[in-house]
This record gives sequence, C-alpha cells and structure tokens, in this order.
Amino acid sequence: MMTVKDIDWRTLGFGYIRTDLRYLSHWREGAWDAGTLTEDNRLHISEGSAALHYGQQCFEGLKAYRCRDGSVNLFRPDQNAARMARSCARLLMPTVPTETFIEACRQVVLANLDYLPPYGTGGALYLRPFMIGVGDNLGVHSAPEFLFSIFCVPVGAYFKGGLTPTNFVVSRYDRAAPNGTGAAKVGGNYAASLLPGREAKARGFGDAIYLDPETHTKIEEVGSANFFGITRDGRFVTPRSPSILPGITRASLLHLARERLGLDAREDDVYVDRLGEFSEAGACGTAAVITPIGGIQNGDHFHVFYSETEVGPVTRRLYDELTGIQFGDREAPEGWTLKVQ
Ligand SMILES: *Cc1c(COP(=O)(O)O)cnc(C)c1O
Repeated sequence: MMTVKDIDWRTLGFGYIRTDLRYLSHWREGAWDAGTLTEDNRLHISEGSAALHYGQQCFEGLKAYRCRDGSVNLFRPDQNAARMARSCARLLMPTVPTETFIEACRQVVLANLDYLPPYGTGGALYLRPFMIGVGDNLGVHSAPEFLFSIFCVPVGAYFKGGLTPTNFVVSRYDRAAPNGTGAAKVGGNYAASLLPGREAKARGFGDAIYLDPETHTKIEEVGSANFFGITRDGRFVTPRSPSILPGITRASLLHLARERLGLDAREDDVYVDRLGEFSEAGACGTAAVITPIGGIQNGDHFHVFYSETEVGPVTRRLYDELTGIQFGDREAPEGWTLKVQ
C-alpha cells in the first residue's frame, strides 16, 4: 500500500491514493447520524441501491491549500455546500446542512494533514464529497437510505511545466438536455461524457467541447470544466445557460476579472462560429484550475485563439490572481478562504 512517504510531490498527478481517514454519515428514517471518521475505504451497500441502478448520486470537488506560513486554506467551501444542496434537491436526496458539510471538510483535512502537498509544489489536497442513494430497493423511486462521505487525495499541480495551452474538439454529442440535469453535479452527466471524451482524446485533443443542446450553436462546457474567453475589446465572457454546471472557479473569475483586472465581465452567449471575437480562451474548474485553450476544432475548421504554445496575458493574470488567493499569497475577497489550521 502506498504511504505518504512514497509520494513524490513533484510528479504527483490526479489519481486515487488511499489516505488515512474519510468522513462517513448515514441517513435513515429522516435524519443523518452523527457522522464519523473511518479508516475503511470500502462501502458495503445493498445490491438494490438506487445509486447503482438509477444514478441517484451527486458529488463535489474542492481543495485544501498549504500556505507559505504553514496554515491551511479551504477555498469557498460554503459554495460547494450550497451547490451540493441544489444537486440533492434535483435528485430527491436529503441535504447536508452547510455547517455540517464544512465541519466534515475540516475534519477530513485535519485528519490527513501529512498528505497535504507542501507550499511551493503547486499541489493541493483534493476533497471529494459525495452522496449516494442506498438500501434495498427495486422500483424507480428515491432510495430509502443515503450515505454522505468525503474522502481526500493529494493531487499535483495541473501543469508541470507552466501554463500550457490545450486544443479541444467540438463534440456531436450533448452532455445535458435543455431541462435536464446539466446544472447538477451528478454522475449521470459524467457517464454520458465518457464516450465523447474518449473520441476527442483518440483524435489527439484534450477533451470534447459541448454545445447548447437546444440549438447546437453556442459553447457550453469544455469537458468537465467551464469555458471563458477574453474578447478583442477586453471583456471577460463565460457562457450563459441553464444547462451548464455553475462552477465556483468560473464565478470567482467573473468577480476577479471585474474587481481586480478592471474588465467588463459577464455571462453571455458564445457562438461557436464567432470565435474570432476572442483573443484568448480558457477552461476553468477546481481540478483544471485554468487551462488555456490553444485552439478549437469544429468540423473541418480549426480556430486558434492566442497561441497553441503560449498563454495569453489576461489568462496569465487571472491564473496568478486566483492561485495567489488560494495559496494565501494575495488578499482574498471577504469570505473566500477558510483557515482550517
Ligand atoms: C465541477 C464542474 C465544473 C467546475 O466547477 P468548479 O466549482 O469550478 O470546480 C465545470 N463543469 C462541470 C461539468 C463540472 O462537473
């Protein structure tokens, strides 16, 4: 078994590593139990669990960051708690109170501090909260019981050699239906994206780009991350749609572009046949942080934004501002970081 002593912080990627303790709470007869930290990384659940057959589950992703002074930051965990509550409501699952969610995150980080990558390596401790419908069941209805758990995994800097642009390809598949579950962080959306993702990667692209499911003219998502672009006249634009996943990174960049970079920043339609309006583009999310988009292949047309090899100046400034706040080197807007140690 891998132990913390075997981890090379510089080569760490994004993969499962069993850490010491995870939080687990069980919902039965209308209430959550007290919740505990456990060493056991296996779940023993009914074969009839609704999560297994009908996809009644949702998840979250957030990171804990080691700061220069040794303290530890969580980035906007209240936003993850709120979004998980919305995902749960959409799938008829019980919600976890925000205070419980944040306290569980705190406990998991403190119980696995040895796994938190040192400051300066660019790595972080990735927290994966999730909820699944469990218990004996067969018919299509909401599960009789639920499990809420949070485990954590140390992950490396997304970019080993600095911010390198990635190329993407527009998929002919949809990731979500117009009034479906696109805005909920649920596994079903991801199961549907595995095939388009594999097709994109087989063609040498980083991932698939999904268009709006109603008209197929507007960019919605970049794989499992959100799209943003910088227009030639200096505006920050990210898609406006009810079927995209409302990313916390995306919301944070909207704020930082406006308040720190002084840009006009807004949600708007991003027409895939008008990409020439943008001088830079990127994908953003907790895992991807900010990935500069080199170019986008749409049918037989390939559009290059800033460069296929270099990051644009506005994307670079947004990246420095965001990661500076997360690692505690730049002042955070009110309430954005929570010290757990
Ligand atoms: C989680 C996720 C994102 C990014 O959300 P963040 O809160 O920024 O991590 C974007 N798109 C999809 C489809 C996602 O599942």
